[in-house]
Amino acid sequence: MSTSPSGAAEVAAVPEGEGPVRGGAADVREGAADVREQEGSAPRTPAPSGPPVLEPLPGDLYGYEQMLPAQDQQVLLRLREWLQREVAPIANDHWARAEFPHHLVPQLGELGVIGLGYDRPGRPAASRLLTSFVTLEISRVDTSLATFFGVHSGLAMGSIVLLGSDEQRERWLPDLFALRRVGAFALTEPDGGSDVALGLKTTARREGDEWVLDGAKRWIGNATFADLVVVWARDVADDAVKGFVVHQDNPGFTATKMEGKLALRSVQNADIVLDGCRVPEADRLAGANTFKDTGRVLQLTRGGVAWNSVGCQMGAYEAALRYAGSRVQFGRPIAGFQLVQDLLVKMLGNVTASLGLTVRVAELQEAGACTDAQAALAKSYCTSRMRETVAYAREVLGGNGILLDHDVARFFNDAEALYSYEGTREINTLIVGRAITGKSAFV
Ligand SMILES: Cc1cc2nc3c(=O)[nH]c(=O)nc-3n(C[C@H](O)[C@H](O)[C@H](O)COP(=O)(O)OP(=O)(O)OC[C@H]3O[C@@H](n4cnc5c(N)ncnc54)[C@H](O)[C@@H]3O)c2cc1C
Repeated sequence: MSTSPSGAAEVAAVPEGEGPVRGGAADVREGAADVREQEGSAPRTPAPSGPPVLEPLPGDLYGYEQMLPAQDQQVLLRLREWLQREVAPIANDHWARAEFPHHLVPQLGELGVIGLGYDRPGRPAASRLLTSFVTLEISRVDTSLATFFGVHSGLAMGSIVLLGSDEQRERWLPDLFALRRVGAFALTEPDGGSDVALGLKTTARREGDEWVLDGAKRWIGNATFADLVVVWARDVADDAVKGFVVHQDNPGFTATKMEGKLALRSVQNADIVLDGCRVPEADRLAGANTFKDTGRVLQLTRGGVAWNSVGCQMGAYEAALRYAGSRVQFGRPIAGFQLVQDLLVKMLGNVTASLGLTVRVAELQEAGACTDAQAALAKSYCTSRMRETVAYAREVLGGNGILLDHDVARFFNDAEALYSYEGTREINTLIVGRAITGKSAFV
């Protein structure tokens, strides 16, 4: 997400401040930052070099993107141009038809932004700030595409980077980096949402060199067409949760698109049924041996949804600002009315507060020092501000605010999904509440 999907009790189960993890062939960025920290250098944001490459976004009043070095701004410039050219014109249409724009996948792969936060031979991991701004830029144009990206690049690839063996990483990651193959992450179950850590019922039974998986998963993004689905299941022998890479054509695996979704409509969320689904031992993630390991993946992607929510509200703000400048009532653009300016400025305040907070979270993550409470507060605060911002934007557009034509209705609806996934507001609140009082109030 990064996206998804974790319930929060399992978020809660992750020890606070657990350090970053090195993943062998493909290390995660925080690993490198952790080493720097041990050596005594302070966490810091990369210094900008040279004049700004990027035009400041209307919603970035304080120029946070200009904090990035010029070469990182170049990455965002390429991405931004591609998003405007290829994605913006089609986002509403695909959203209305609830269809994923498959033709964009190879193009996104070629942009080089997939798995940017992981080391690869010949390409060191990018900073957390850059990978976070990639999420923001995609989200401010199409939050559905940003969710596809977060599930693939964050949750699915992150599981393999962190928990795969060297052989597994070499086998799967090159195709995932290039988006020749798509990943998904299946944790949530029909009866296991916020409490999935305790409530996970999908079972795994070892039979010789194979495992047999039985159970059901729900809400799984990308799963109708993903080539690899990371499935979390409880080993009947020791009751521990383990991770399995299941291929779309594995016998006993079926994924059915969930219909009737009114947010992130282009994302293909699926109900998965595992019915005696056979997975070779070679495809069990070597380092996924308890639910704590699942938590390590979620810790890696945590904070990503807060960035999605900054992008979503920024997109809504920009659309409202454009509209206010062109819509004429009482003989002048509505942008000239005080009450409309009040809404626009409240939106900008929300975006700015959210962005400042997420930039600090990215800095802390870069240093391997972000606590669960810090990430949880960012998620709950930014998604709450986002909900206000998209509602103000809808108000600025009057009746047109409920039409797709001006993008605002799409952002308005998509905000609802971001508000709930990767731990709901309540669950993230409980994580912070526990940290500040020392008392757990989950049950
Ligand atoms: C669009 C979308 C995409 C998703 N993608 C994925 C994915 O790719 N992979 C995946 O594994 N999952 C995915 N999810 C699942 C997502 O993570 C869950 O929806 C989320 O964890 C919440 O679980 P739930 O919906 O079952 O809500 P529930 O857990 O049933 O919660 C319902 C309500 O009860 C509240 N509540 C629950 N427990 C408590 C408590 N102890 N105290 C106070 N209030 C409480 C919640 O805050 C919420 O308001 C996705 C979900 C959505 C909506």
